[in-house]
Order: sequence, then structure tokens, then C-alpha cells
Amino acid sequence: MFDRRKFIKSSAISASLLAIGKSSIANIIPAPLAAPAAKPLVISTWDFGIAANHAAWGVLSAGGRALDAVEKGVQVPESDVKNQSVGLGGLPDRDGIVTLDACIMDEEGNCGSVAGLEHIEHAISVARMVMEKTPHVMLVGDGALQFALENGFKKINLLTPESEKAWKEWLKTAKYAPVMNIENKLYDKASPTRLPGNQYNHDTIGMLALDAKGNLSGACTTSGMAYKLHGRVGDSPIIGAGLYIDNEIGGATSTGVGEEVIRNVGSFLVVELMRQGYPPEEACKEAVMRIIKKKPAKAKEIQVGFLALSKKGQYGAYAIQKGFSYAVCNEENQSLLIPGKSYY
Ligand code: ASP
Repeated sequence: MFDRRKFIKSSAISASLLAIGKSSIANIIPAPLAAPAAKPLVISTWDFGIAANHAAWGVLSAGGRALDAVEKGVQVPESDVKNQSVGLGGLPDRDGIVTLDACIMDEEGNCGSVAGLEHIEHAISVARMVMEKTPHVMLVGDGALQFALENGFKKINLLTPESEKAWKEWLKTAKYAPVMNIENKLYDKASPTRLPGNQYNHDTIGMLALDAKGNLSGACTTSGMAYKLHGRVGDSPIIGAGLYIDNEIGGATSTGVGEEVIRNVGSFLVVELMRQGYPPEEACKEAVMRIIKKKPAKAKEIQVGFLALSKKGQYGAYAIQKGFSYAVCNEENQSLLIPGKSYY
């Protein structure tokens, strides 16, 4: 159970350590600094969240809406060809086809989503258009592409030469299951620095923002598990699994093995735990523990990380494995990178 006294104590320590100056490069700080921060504020998964947060910050610092900020923010990794787990340049499925999953949710509980979308760079913007221009929440596959093209999105080839090369290399062994615990193997234990190259076969950007008016929104976008079965959909486009926002309470998003997140309706669970009084990190931890408790043997082999932001601007994260990190951007510091605490 969550211990309020311990939390109050750790918050006090965190507050006293919060004097971090402005910096253009990432400041690696220990997780206890995940303390309340003034709004506006944006947080997102992994180290590539830093650049994404900067784009979101452009909107938030000008007094813009959290929804606009998260869309703009996650477009950055979507366009980054070097990022092989999101958008353009994402690693393909086992048939060599890049398929994207994304969803977005605003302060009024409106949401939109696309799954298995091909040929479109900004899946997140298609998801937003589903939310704003249709009576539906989710479009998939050919229907999602048709909708995007009808609404002016450009059809492009998402498979870059680098990702095609990685896929062809994978085909040589063509192991059916993707490497689930890739972060733990590839990160240097002492720092959350990302290794270069195309070794990452999954990682999603999930972003949560609180704007100057105190409204929350979130976005989540990914090319999903590399070399997945064609047609496989992960947690990232599923409202309640990969992302959930409740403007009264807070928001949560996830990264890692989507199947486990879906089975536990992870992001919704994190928000509901915050409603019960759990601070963000404790809520993320409890959601991770549910996954571990149900399948302890499997949990050793996989990574799942949750990231949460409360209505008050408190934030926190927790993962099964080491190696998860998240980026935080606010008035004081636009480039924080925080190693997420983990069970293992
Ligand atoms: N959650 C994503 C999926 O299952 C992948 C990831 O974030 O690592 O498709």
C-alpha cells in the first residue's frame, strides 16, 4: 500500500533539491526530484522526449493549449528518421511494412486514434482529425489511410533504407518474438544514455502536458514492436491502455510490451490510482506491480514503463526493468532527463 508519510518526507527532500538552472543540454538527475512543478509543464517518455518537449514547450510557453502542445511535440520523433521506433523511419513488421499506432486525448475527454496506419508521417495528426472531424474514436488500417488521404495528408514511403536494412538483417534469423527486454540490455547501467544505431526494436513516445490554464492533454505514437505480425496492434493507440487523461485528476501514458499494458488497461489504472490518492510515481509502481504479480516469470523478460502527471503538476514514472527514462520540461528547465525507477 502507498505510504503517505514516506511520500511527504520524500517530497520535502525533492523540493529542496529542485534548484536546477536553465540548460540547453539534458540534465541527468535522480528520480527523487520528480516533485511538484509549476504549470505549464510537459513530460514525455525516453530521451527523445527532450526534443519533443522543446516543440511542445513552444506552444505552452506562449500560453497555448495542452492539446496543441502534445500534437506538436510528438511530431518531432515522428519526423526523425533516426528514431526507428516512431513514425517515419520506424522499423517495419515482419513483412517489411511500417505500420503506425497513435492516439490523442484532450481535457474534455475527447479522443481519437489510428492503428495500423501506413504511409503517413504524422499518425498523431490523423488521430486528432479522427477526434475532431468524425463521430468515432478509432480508425484502422486501410480505412485510416483513406481518411488521412481524403483530409489532405501526403502519402509517403515510411521505410527508410536504414530500417529496411535492419529488417533484412532480422530476416536472416526471423525470430518470431521481438527482443522484449531490449532497453535493459542496451543501456549502460550507470546512465540512461541511449546507445546509437538501430538496435531498438520498440519504444513509444507518450507525452503529457499541463497548460497555463491548468488543462491536461496527452498523445502517444509509435511504429510499435519491430517485426511484429502484420496487423498486430499494441497499447499505444488504445485509449485507457497506452494513454488516458482525466482533467480532474491527471494523465498517464505507457511504453513497452503493449500486450501486457492492454491486459491491465494500464494508463487508465494509473489515473484511477491517482484518483485514490496515490502520487504519480506510486500509481505507476502499483500498475507495474499488477503486471508483475499476474505473470512473474514473464515479467522478468519484458519491459513496461508508465509515466504520469497529476492535475497539480506532480509527475513520476515506474518501469519493470532498468533503462527507462523520461524527459521533463518546465519554466525552470527545459531539458531534464530523469531515470525512471524500476522493479528490477
Ligand atoms: N508499446 C509499444 C507497443 O507495444 C512499444 C513500446 O513502447 O516499446 O507497440
